[in-house]
Amino acid sequence: MSKFTGKRLNGITPYVAGEQPQDKQYIKLNTNESPFPPSPFAQRLARESAGDMLLYPDPEYSTLCNIAAEKLSVKASEILFTNGSDEALNFAFIAFCGYDTPAVFPDITYGFYPVFAALNGVPKKVIPLKDDFTIDVKDYFNAGGTVFIANPNAPTGIALKKSDIEKILINNPENVVVIDEAYVDFGAESCVSLINKYDNLIITQTFSKSRSMAGARLGLAIANESLINDLKTVKFSTNPYNVSRMSAAAGIGAITDEEYFKTNCAAIIKTRAAFTDGLKSLGFTVLPSTANFVFAKNGNLSGEKLYSELKTRGILVRYFNIPRIKDFVRITIGDNKDMEKTLGAISEILKVIK
Ligand code: PMP
Repeated sequence: MSKFTGKRLNGITPYVAGEQPQDKQYIKLNTNESPFPPSPFAQRLARESAGDMLLYPDPEYSTLCNIAAEKLSVKASEILFTNGSDEALNFAFIAFCGYDTPAVFPDITYGFYPVFAALNGVPKKVIPLKDDFTIDVKDYFNAGGTVFIANPNAPTGIALKKSDIEKILINNPENVVVIDEAYVDFGAESCVSLINKYDNLIITQTFSKSRSMAGARLGLAIANESLINDLKTVKFSTNPYNVSRMSAAAGIGAITDEEYFKTNCAAIIKTRAAFTDGLKSLGFTVLPSTANFVFAKNGNLSGEKLYSELKTRGILVRYFNIPRIKDFVRITIGDNKDMEKTLGAISEILKVIK
């Protein structure tokens, strides 16, 4: 760190993103991207909007909000589009946490939550998951701060039922509860329909996973108008034009092309089931996933060893050097061919290390 950094940056450990290697072609199963290209219609609208780059975009992204609102059965004023859902989450940390309002989240969850807390000078209250990596909802009753829960959770893939999230909402009348639905389209229950039932609920979603647009950086927050206005105060105080014209245009195409989205989600869910069976037959414990990845371990080799053996075979997965989960690897669900190759490589690795 330079001698010029302000206090706020002291001791900050930035989020460690998954590797994005540029040196060679890997089967890339480490950052939960989609194996499918973005919808052709989304691509077309993005291309067509390129000529308008000379102008700033509409900072309200009205067309995009209207189309998303119709799809989600909410009002356009109940949506805020952001530069990836990471930005929506950061806005929520800025708006709803403070030195006397901690951020409350599980010990094993999305690694950006502690980073946003640190960067914004927010204390954190970390609640351990149960031994089976599930959340005990009672642990979050009257949480004493702003709750952040990824549903399904990452990297475990395990989801809470909507009725369990309702219990958390009911038992936090004084706290905002942020439900991060980055992976919800792969089999979990969304809580979007609850935004007007509970005045303390914020949902974040992303186009990075189920809509194959990680490179476009498009996410959103969905909540009642009052909470969305709070988030807008942060946005208009930092970056009013936070989504590029081309990403906003692609977003319109991706939402419109519902069939393409549904087909891809169904394919991932099917491949996930086959891959999970394959891993289990190789002696793995696989946590029940409703995401586009699985979290798995095998008693015969550590997560780090499996990660590095796969990497030498041209397959990238994610391993976390965190005591509770160091035996696990997180493997993104790609297409059938890539997952078959991955199973083949894992089976070979298990034979070699014996
Ligand atoms: N939440 C969770 C749980 C994630 O895993 C990710 C992806 N790393 C995000 C949010 C953010 O995704 P994006 O900014 O691409 O929308």
